[in-house]
Amino acid sequence: MRWSKRAAALLASLLLLLTAVQAGGMGKEPSARERPVLNTRLTAPGEEREASKIPELTVVAPEPVKEPERAAESAKPEARTAEAASGKERKDPVFPEAEDWQILLVNPWNEMPEDYEVTLKTLPDGNKVDERAYEDLAAMLEACRKAGLQPKICSSYRTQSKQTYLYNNKIARLRNAGYSRKAAEAEAGRWVARPGTSEHQLGLALDIVSQSYQALTKKQEKTAEQKWLMEHCWEYGFILRYPNDKSEITGIGYEPWHYRYVGREVALDIRDSGLCMEEYLLLREETLEKQA
Ligand SMILES: [Zn+2]
Repeated sequence: MRWSKRAAALLASLLLLLTAVQAGGMGKEPSARERPVLNTRLTAPGEEREASKIPELTVVAPEPVKEPERAAESAKPEARTAEAASGKERKDPVFPEAEDWQILLVNPWNEMPEDYEVTLKTLPDGNKVDERAYEDLAAMLEACRKAGLQPKICSSYRTQSKQTYLYNNKIARLRNAGYSRKAAEAEAGRWVARPGTSEHQLGLALDIVSQSYQALTKKQEKTAEQKWLMEHCWEYGFILRYPNDKSEITGIGYEPWHYRYVGREVALDIRDSGLCMEEYLLLREETLEKQA
């Protein structure tokens, strides 16, 4: 359905009004999502990329100008899959205790530590993961299968050389398609992390697809397996790491198949907060600093 601009603008103002009423009525602080300006702490110094390519890690309240689009988007139920799956009501995070490895941030601006060591455990299908994620992963896959589904891990732990191979391969394909070297590197990085910046190298990330539909495309979210995983992964300590509406912050395009292990308590906390990992960790740092 196509919204006329007027109708969309009207709906937007209604939504804004409703939000304001709710916020006022509950007499609460602004939610984590609305808190302004989380910035730059997550940007590593000595970053190779040009500043212009680095999206600022800023959490901003929705701008009124953009409201019509957003209103139209949220009016379409299927456009909200990831968000809907991640929980209905947003709650302020409580930041349970966690070990460093659980909340280790690896993204385009934060390389994994060079001396990072991982003890791997091999699944029956041959995939390897950090042994600390093994039990929860096995339980999640078993529950998914018990629900009558057929999840298939298509990528798990990767070595630096495997990641380098995948990255270079992506660049080569983009170059063949006519991209300049610079443009190919930028585009490749949105889909295959630069070596050293992939969570797969931690052994804590998994790409899981449906046995009956294995393409890594947006359509993956429509499979019964993905719907189940998006709804239940949090119970087993996994988060949907690259949600549709957070690409600007994660630096990675929407991947409705990539799950990152953070442990059960943290995963549920992240789900309830509605934040992506970058936002969550920044807020966590700020909050714990204030409390110290
Ligand atoms: Zn992945």
